Amino acid sequence: MQLFNVPDKAITLNAYNKKTDVIFSFYSEKEIPYDYRDVEQQQRIVWEQFAGQGWRTEELLKEVQHSNKMYFDKFCQIKMPSWTKGRVALVGDAGYCASPAAGMGASLSMEGAAALADALQKHNGDFHLAFQDYNKNLRPFIEEVQATAELNVRENFIPRTEEAIRLRNTKQVF
Ligand SMILES: Cc1cc2nc3c(=O)[nH]c(=O)nc-3n(C[C@H](O)[C@H](O)[C@H](O)COP(=O)(O)OP(=O)(O)OC[C@H]3O[C@@H](n4cnc5c(N)ncnc54)[C@H](O)[C@@H]3O)c2cc1C
Repeated sequence: MQLFNVPDKAITLNAYNKKTDVIFSFYSEKEIPYDYRDVEQQQRIVWEQFAGQGWRTEELLKEVQHSNKMYFDKFCQIKMPSWTKGRVALVGDAGYCASPAAGMGASLSMEGAAALADALQKHNGDFHLAFQDYNKNLRPFIEEVQATAELNVRENFIPRTEEAIRLRNTKQVF
């Protein structure tokens, strides 16, 4: 993995399985309105944020323009006071998405599914009691992962000042 930062912006190159993901991340003070089906508009937003930022930015922006697999979204998390209602229980991203910054989304989904299955087994299918257990027992783990993801974005992925970038560079974070 390679990471390039200027305050409020990051470019990450993540290589695995003979391919490299190119990830552009940036802070925006306000919500950016966009059409999630309009890829050209999303490419323009990335271009406007990163044009002229140095390093390999120009070359990597060209990759974005020619990519047919672009994905554009904001880092967001789902926080709900309860993951169950009536007979319905939410598992994974639907209930407690921690954002890609956690690097744990798939694990949370599987841990969540296992916690729900264990609770239903423990209470012999009584979903009222099982859902209470599920909501109570899994919550500390979810909250910890979500808090770590927020910290990761702020301190490691997209530090907001030159000083914060320098401080991050002194730490072994990845
Ligand atoms: C860019 C990016 C990078 C990521 N990197 C990582 C990583 O490195 N490691 C990691 O662990 N996690 C990562 N994640 C997060 C991870 O992908 C998710 O947290 C995980 O896939 C969530 O699993 P899920 O089963 O809860 O939801 P999903 O995987 O989203 O599954 C939900 C499924 O429901 C289907 N669906 C939706 N609506 C309906 C409907 N009405 N009827 C029927 N089906 C429906 C969807 O098509 C989808 O297949 C990343 C996420 C993103 C966006």
